[in-house]
Amino acid sequence: PAVEEPIHEAVLGRAASRGDTPALIDGVDGMTLTYAQLDTFHRRIAAELADLGVGKGDVLALHSPNTVAFPVAFFAATRAGASVTTVHPLATPEEFAKQLRDCKAEWIVTVSPLLDTARTAAELAGGVREIFVCDQAPGHRSLLDMLGSTAPEPEIDIDPVEDVAALPYSSGTTGVPKGVMLTHRNIATNLAQLSPTMPMGPGDRILAVLPFFHIYGLTALMNAPLRQGATVVVLPRFDLETFLAAIEKHRITGLYVAPPIVLALAKHPAVEGYDLSSLEYIISAAAPLDAELAEACSRRLGLPPVGQAYGMTELSPGTHVVPRDSVNPPPGSVGKLIPGTQMRIVSLDDPAKDVGVDERGEIVIRGPQVMKGYLGRPEATAAMIDEDGWLHTGDVGHVDAGGWLYVVDRVKELIKYKGFQVAPAELEALLLTHPGIADAAVIGVYDSDNNERPHAYVVRQPAAEDLTEDEVMGYVAERVAPYKKIRQVVFIEGVPRAASGKILRRELRERA
Ligand code: ATP
Ligand code: MG
Repeated sequence: PAVEEPIHEAVLGRAASRGDTPALIDGVDGMTLTYAQLDTFHRRIAAELADLGVGKGDVLALHSPNTVAFPVAFFAATRAGASVTTVHPLATPEEFAKQLRDCKAEWIVTVSPLLDTARTAAELAGGVREIFVCDQAPGHRSLLDMLGSTAPEPEIDIDPVEDVAALPYSSGTTGVPKGVMLTHRNIATNLAQLSPTMPMGPGDRILAVLPFFHIYGLTALMNAPLRQGATVVVLPRFDLETFLAAIEKHRITGLYVAPPIVLALAKHPAVEGYDLSSLEYIISAAAPLDAELAEACSRRLGLPPVGQAYGMTELSPGTHVVPRDSVNPPPGSVGKLIPGTQMRIVSLDDPAKDVGVDERGEIVIRGPQVMKGYLGRPEATAAMIDEDGWLHTGDVGHVDAGGWLYVVDRVKELIKYKGFQVAPAELEALLLTHPGIADAAVIGVYDSDNNERPHAYVVRQPAAEDLTEDEVMGYVAERVAPYKKIRQVVFIEGVPRAASGKILRRELRERA
């Protein structure tokens, strides 16, 4: 059932009545914002922004690491009628300018440490009317000063079905990042679909370590907890020791993370130094997570199995999740289809044909969370969403008899070796089971005869400096069918990853 409500209502509709319950806590300096403050502050700022000319149809770029002010700015903007495009805080001025130009943003909200980047980007892009700061910076209006606003609350007529609430850019893992138009209805509905599977309340403290600018962080770490009245402890970036210390200090109960953090929790020696006993559950999403790694993590921390969720920016973002109350969920599954959503698994050779139970095919989705489209890219939209409204995810998966989905990898990443298909994610997972390997990535590299061959990029554990290429290849060869063997190993210092935790295989490909 679709929820036709503006997202600031869907998320903050009950904020005022929660009064002094902490909504957001800065994980570094402890600064706290209560639900009552979150409610009042975002309304005052919305009024002031509207008074300054921000209105329906405008795009506002929110350029900030995770802070307690981030949601205030976000919902102030949507309440004023704007669409919010979130910007990677580490974007270069050129990257930022490209995004500003692409979505014709007229307003920027940034923070003083990033002001130079924002100014340069605005000059490069043109068309930006004003740059606001969340904190204080000479020559720029501050959201803090707007808290004293006496302007009347704007009367904006938001159409939840048509109006774009958020305009995140896809991660750009496989190509150029594309602006994804998510309507108020898309996001509000998906939140309502996901919430019963991730129940939270005033006693829950969620650690927001993944970036709010990415749809996963925006939903799992900001919208869902705030909608349900939990407390969000905010960290500006991932640093393992700060992260572990924050769990201990703030008695964090729930973690929404990506596979590299599960890897660290399962393997890193630093974990032993902290009291993580407040943790009740861990959910991982955004990239393939191996069942054995998940199991090693939950065993080490004494927790129920690490649950998974699956989605993509274009799906607002979720379609599958392992419900918190499931008894013995099958290892490796990303979960079950959420209500109000349809799925098919179609043949990779013929998308008109559905495959059977346990057979691999492309995951195809229809439902109220399917994006309105890519901004300004009708061909890209048509290539992804067919005439019947089915969105072709580009991900390979299979469903078992119990309805549990397993994601294998992206169609585009499958390595074709002599007519066989090799999923890099499977080999990466296997490599990580080697005690001497701290991290690994696999790509297909073409040899001189134009055959694609699996190559591994391996990061050694500090205590395994003598690990050799032959040892790694031998380890894999003993455990897989011959066509999946690793054909070359390159030792590297670190695996390149996007902020959301995804391996940037194209960077490795450039290196190769
Ligand atoms: P771009 O589309 O710009 O190349 P991207 O696809 O990485 O970037 P996102 O929307 O952030 O951008 O990521 C969605 C993708 O993440 C999915 O299509 C899927 O490949 C992957 N993914 C998400 N959750 C999972 C999961 N639980 N297991 C495996 N893969 C996942
Ligand atoms: Mg994608």
